[in-house]
Amino acid sequence: TYVITEPCIATKEASCVEVCPVDCIHSDDAAQQYFIDPGQCIDCGACVSTCPVEAIYADYDVPPAQERFIAVNAKFFAS
Ligand code: SF4
Repeated sequence: TYVITEPCIATKEASCVEVCPVDCIHSDDAAQQYFIDPGQCIDCGACVSTCPVEAIYADYDVPPAQERFIAVNAKFFAS
């Protein structure tokens, strides 16, 4: 799966949402960033280059300082 990390916080530019072919990038008014649903992402990578703040990484390529966002993204979709 791909993961949205800290630079998205308070940015929420949302161009990634438009390009995702499976519509798996979501947020809500209470959240300060967008999140990728790890159960739906097909690893196409289309969202990465659309992000103006370079917040999106493949899960195996998340910078060490951003690794907590792997769980942060998944938690948004846990119910
Ligand atoms: Fe959507 Fe592809 Fe990005 Fe996964 S990698 S969130 S499927 S655009």
